Amino acid sequence: MTTELIEALTGKDWGLLINGASQAAADNAWDKVYSPATGLAIAQVARATETDVDAAVQNAKAAFVQWAALPGAEREKIIRKATAYVRTQADQIGGLMALEQGKPFAQSRGEVTSSCDLMDYYAAEAVRVEGYVNSTEKSNLYSWVVYQPVGVCGLITPWNYPVSLLSWKLGPAMATGCTVVVKPTEVTPLSPLAFCKALIEGGIPAGVINVVMGDGVVGAALVTHRDVAKVAMTGSTHTGKKIMSAIASQLKKVSLELGGHCPAIVCADADLDLAAEIIVYKGFRNMGQSCSTVNRVYAHHSIHDVLIEKIVSKAQKFSIGDGVLEGDCDLGPMTTAETLQKVERHVADALTKGASLHTGGKKPNGEKYQNGHYYTPTVLSKVSPDMLMMQEETFGPVVPIDSFDSLEEAIDKANDSDFGLCAYLFTKDFATTMRVSQALEAGTVCVNNGAVNTAYAPYEGWKDSGFGVELSRKAIFEYLKTKHIKVGF
Ligand code: NAD
Repeated sequence: MTTELIEALTGKDWGLLINGASQAAADNAWDKVYSPATGLAIAQVARATETDVDAAVQNAKAAFVQWAALPGAEREKIIRKATAYVRTQADQIGGLMALEQGKPFAQSRGEVTSSCDLMDYYAAEAVRVEGYVNSTEKSNLYSWVVYQPVGVCGLITPWNYPVSLLSWKLGPAMATGCTVVVKPTEVTPLSPLAFCKALIEGGIPAGVINVVMGDGVVGAALVTHRDVAKVAMTGSTHTGKKIMSAIASQLKKVSLELGGHCPAIVCADADLDLAAEIIVYKGFRNMGQSCSTVNRVYAHHSIHDVLIEKIVSKAQKFSIGDGVLEGDCDLGPMTTAETLQKVERHVADALTKGASLHTGGKKPNGEKYQNGHYYTPTVLSKVSPDMLMMQEETFGPVVPIDSFDSLEEAIDKANDSDFGLCAYLFTKDFATTMRVSQALEAGTVCVNNGAVNTAYAPYEGWKDSGFGVELSRKAIFEYLKTKHIKVGF
């Protein structure tokens, strides 16, 4: 990023975005946002009160009347025009993401443009919200089914992919005619706020998108607001369960995309270079701060040592830097001090319990890494189920490798988890592909590839990884309610 861009983006006060206007919170409270690379404050954002949350919801409710009434083709046109404008702001929004999240600028910028692509994918769905006609029990009865937008949606998002995980919700919500109040995470609020602001500047009517900032207290006020008809949240399983119990008495629609603990099974016949490449990419990209990261590898005993060598050699090639100043490095700092501490705790726990460290396990050497939350890509073997990293989401750049003898053992080990988000399998054998992919308890199984999230395919967690579909055409039904109309004539 250029010095001019960094200067233009830092040191500002960012207000709540309500009915298209930027405003301070009712009590004028502000929270600082920090750089994970330097530990210094980069900006401050207004922290919403309950009154502000209510104002945002009321504006979204008022805007719903007109937005939902527009023909789908009209909404499509408006959304596409807005995303075209957002693309012109990708440097600014991506720059904010690099500053607050730590992801290198090139990747942050890419997240903004790919989020526009996803919004366009859903814009095209706006004209495809169809109903159907039923055959009835009498000739003078006519029966048909229509889908209508649910109303105001409360969108709660995390910090690891602050803009793309917002677009996964914003896209289908807006295409179907819903209006939204977004509550981005308190850790990285700037880029999602700037994304929403740019959408409004690009022509989305004021009130269709509102943004309130703050922590879980603000999130709780939003999800329990009686005029919020649907909650879509991505975050930890712990928070997902809290939201579920908080809204239980209101019986509103909800989708929760929660934590993961994704296994990768590498069979004896696998293409080991491909397996190593994908494990390393999934395991370390974004510093392993991804719900679909590879949390555990199970390698057939016959290829276990060779696979480790290949993974270690690739892991050591990653360049690590300040993603703001070195925008095209591979990895930046981890986003928060707490996440870094959790990684250190998990690695220390595994080493105490007998794991072998092959690479990483520490901060990189050098003065430039002193003040940031940096950590080197870490590979461990001789891991066992009693280790924290084999049970909990480490959410960091750590790949632990275990071995197996039979496919049954690999499947049992892979399924021995409370989570069920994604799983990976590497084999050249078709029968193994069929058998293992069907047996794995996960919402997504990727065989010989790591492209978990694609616009055209549904993404849904099993078990403690949540429920409700994101991505694909199916996600629009999360934002629609069904109506049966039966007419006698
Ligand atoms: P988090 O649960 O701490 O926070 C997520 C969001 O919930 C934040 O905006 C937070 O302010 C809000 N929140 C907290 N308490 C709340 C409450 N009581 N009511 C309403 N909102 C509340 O998660 P995080 O640390 O920001 O994100 C990391 C987690 O997200 C990881 O567990 C990761 O696996 C998960 N994740 C899941 C997916 C997926 O698609 N399944 C994708 C990315 C991340």
